[in-house]
Formats: sequence, structure tokens, C-alpha cells
Amino acid sequence: MQQILVVDDEIEHLNVLCELLQAASYEVLRTSQPERALAIAERSQPDLVITDWDMPGLSGLELIRQLKERAMTRDIPVIMCTGKMTSSANLDAALQAGAVDYLRKPVDPIELCARTRSMLQLSTLYRELKAKQHALALQNELLSQQNAMLDQQKQALHKAATTDQLTGLYNRAYLMEQLGREFAGSQRLGHPLSCLLLDIDSFKSFNDRHGHLVGDAVLRHVAQLLGGKIRRNDVMARYGGEEFAVLLPGTAAAAATGLAETLRAAVAQSVLQLGDLNCQVTVSIGVADSLLGAPPNETALLKHADEALYAAKHQGRNRVVVFEAGGKALAR
Ligand code: GH3
Ligand code: MG
Ligand code: MG
Repeated sequence: MQQILVVDDEIEHLNVLCELLQAASYEVLRTSQPERALAIAERSQPDLVITDWDMPGLSGLELIRQLKERAMTRDIPVIMCTGKMTSSANLDAALQAGAVDYLRKPVDPIELCARTRSMLQLSTLYRELKAKQHALALQNELLSQQNAMLDQQKQALHKAATTDQLTGLYNRAYLMEQLGREFAGSQRLGHPLSCLLLDIDSFKSFNDRHGHLVGDAVLRHVAQLLGGKIRRNDVMARYGGEEFAVLLPGTAAAAATGLAETLRAAVAQSVLQLGDLNCQVTVSIGVADSLLGAPPNETALLKHADEALYAAKHQGRNRVVVFEAGGKALAR
């Protein structure tokens, strides 16, 4: 049953209103003390408040303002009962303060019930709307949580798809993707793009001597060592078993060769201590530059680096060789 709070300091008028509303099957809460109306409204959450205007202590206008100030009572509709002579300006003040309607005294029973019914219908619709809004807000919150989770999963998947598990470097697939992009960019802008291919020397016999697990530890160690020596926009990847590749956008052969030499020396000088075992390996490095030998595409650039690497192996390993236009690869 819908509940109405009636506030009027004149007991006689209060009784008349309450009886009329009860006869119309509404549950009625009443008070002749307007100061108590706020607490009753907060506690009982009536569907409608009907208040007298002219009351000692707290006027109907002030009561409406205070109801509208409190979150708990803000949405309860209020009908103001006004004296016969109430001016339009006063009615305007009541509506501005938050009253949804007014009734002139003496109250006409049919008008009272009609206005009450229509306000309660509005109030019901408003409450339903609020409940739907609340449900939607919850659903929204849930959706954004699910979205954030999906984003995380997407990132994790992308990382897994682009990372080499053993070394934590980028994998070959990612390298090839970046190589295509960087090669196209370098062609468009006429900028150099250098590519290094590094291969650990005689790693098969290293594995044969010390075992595959020690070999794995060395691969991780070399990856970490090399990774710490390149710039942020360079791309280093594990190209294959004991091979690594580095893309150097905007870097020409001379600077790329300098870096290759730094990497080669760093590996040669580094000792990985595993228990009693001191592990030391060397790398051979092939260098190619997109502005040298006019590679028509990224695969050709990689092939140039591979040819230079092959020459480095052929010339005795632990060295850097640059691919030179004209087809010969020269040791540094
Ligand atoms: P070269 O100096 O000519 O490169 O000689 P190499 O022995 O390094 O070359 P080869 O291609 O004959 O052998 C590569 C070796 O690298 C063989 C393989 O066992 C080892 N290798 C490849 N991937 C891994 C890996 O993930 N872990 C370990 N421990 N070894 C690997
Ligand atoms: Mg190899
Ligand atoms: Mg090798």
C-alpha cells in the first residue's frame, strides 16, 4: 500500500486530510509538528508528502527545502497545501523550492484524491526509473571490469605471442613484423636501416661439452648482456636457436658496425659463472644496411646480413663483417 505523510499544525485540518486519504485506501503517516516531519520522512520513506504552508517553527516552504537538501528524502514528491489567498508569486516560490503541485484550502476531496493519485503514479514511475538506472550503472561497472580484464588478457596474449620463452627477448615472428614495417619506413624516408645477425660460435660443441641446460643458461646470459646495450627503439630478437637479430632504425652501416663490435667484445669478455664452471662464448656478427647494395625488400636485407655472418664464420669466427655492395662481405 502506498504511504503518504501529512504535515499540518492545525489538528482539525490534519484529521480531515488524513481521513480523506485513508478512505481512498492510502496508508497515512501524520504529524502536526513540522520539525518532526523530516525525521519521519527519512525513516519511513513515504511515497508522497502533503504539507501545509503556514506553520509555526518550520514553514511548509522551509520543510520542502530541507527535504530536498537531504539525499534520503530528495526524491519524495511534495504537494503544498496553501491558503485560499496565496499569491501566484508564493505558488511560484513553492514550486521553485521543489513542490511538485499545490492544493488550495479548504481542500476539495475529489481534487485531493485526483492530485494525490497522479503524483503517486509519477512517483512510482520515477522510482522504477531510478531502480533501472541503478541496475544499468551496476551493469556498466561490471562491463568495464570485464573490459579491463579482457584488455589485460589481450596484452598477456600479445606478449606471449611476441616473446621468446627462453630468453625473454622478442621472437622471430615479431622481428619479421617489425622488419617489414621499418624497411618500408626507411625506403619511404630514405633513412638507413641496419640489421645485425649474431650467432654464437661453435655452440654445438659447447653443448656437447657442458650439456643443454648449461647451454640454455648461456643463451639467457648472452640475451641479457646484448639487450642491455641497445637503444629503446632498436629491436632485438632471438632469431633462431643460438642466433640473435638486431634492427637499428635510422642507423647506417658505420654506426651499426661500431655497435656490433661493442656487442662482440662484450660477449667475448663476459664470463658466466655456474658453480665451478666458468662459461665463456664468442659471437660472429653480420651487418647489413638498407642503403648498401640496394636490397629490394626486407628479406634481401636479412639475406645480406646472413651472407656477412657466413663470411665472419668463414674468416675464423668471433668477428664482425659488413655486407658490402658488389657482393663481397668485408671483415672489419
Ligand atoms: P657455428 O660457429 O658455425 O655457428 O657453430 P655452431 O655449433 O654454433 O652451429 P650449429 O648450427 O652447427 O649448431 C648450433 C647449435 O646451437 C646446435 C644446437 O644444439 C644449439 N642450440 C640451438 N638452440 C638451442 C637452445 O635453445 N638451447 C641450447 N642449449 N642449445 C641450442
Ligand atoms: Mg647457427
Ligand atoms: Mg653457431
